[in-house]
Amino acid sequence: MSVVSLKDDKEHNGIKTSIDAKQSPSVADGSYGVTNVQVESDKSRPATATFSASSIVCRICQTHSADEILISPCNCKGTLAYVHLPCLERWLNQVSRTYCELCMFRYNSIQTQRYGLCESLRIWIRHPRNRNHVQSDCVIAALLTTVTIGLIAVCIMGMQYFVLEAKKLGINQIWTKGFVSVFLCIILLGYVITLYLMIKDQFLPWYHWWKTTVDVKLLLNPSVTMIEKHSTNT
Ligand SMILES: [Zn+2]
Ligand SMILES: [Zn+2]
Repeated sequence: MSVVSLKDDKEHNGIKTSIDAKQSPSVADGSYGVTNVQVESDKSRPATATFSASSIVCRICQTHSADEILISPCNCKGTLAYVHLPCLERWLNQVSRTYCELCMFRYNSIQTQRYGLCESLRIWIRHPRNRNHVQSDCVIAALLTTVTIGLIAVCIMGMQYFVLEAKKLGINQIWTKGFVSVFLCIILLGYVITLYLMIKDQFLPWYHWWKTTVDVKLLLNPSVTMIEKHSTNT
């Protein structure tokens, strides 16, 4: 009986994996008997688990072929323990997360901002919902500014008129000027607060999205992270 021996070392995103599979002609069609998967990325976790090959699939894409390497990068156990590294990275990038949502294990990873400031603003504004929100707020801000400028102009230019009219009613000009000034301050304060709240309402959701949209690159120690896959002839 001839035995085919396969030894392959691969390095992907800092994870060095080693496949050592001995395959007999009877299992050359891919029908492995028992597959032994060993992962040593974390000493606190059990390093070895034995399943029938058909039960081991990537928990994300639900597939597994002989030339793809499955890793167990977190504390999940059983059939949910195994995942393809590219599948896991793709998923983490999609959800902008650096921990396993099942066991809450925090992956050793590098996070980089996916978009620069200008690019993130462009993408944010391009979204129809955000664009409509920005447009409606711009219209409101323009109207508010126009009304505020109009009221300030009326107060300043009409001050003399108000003083004369108030004098006819026996009101001292100091009171009139004081009243108009307070009115002016209230208008300005209202304008500034409204504008601030509108900008904050626009800024915060974008800022949160921008900061949490990251590219996640998993970093498992190359010296201790190893997958060994053996198939035995049954
Ligand atoms: Zn997969
Ligand atoms: Zn997990």
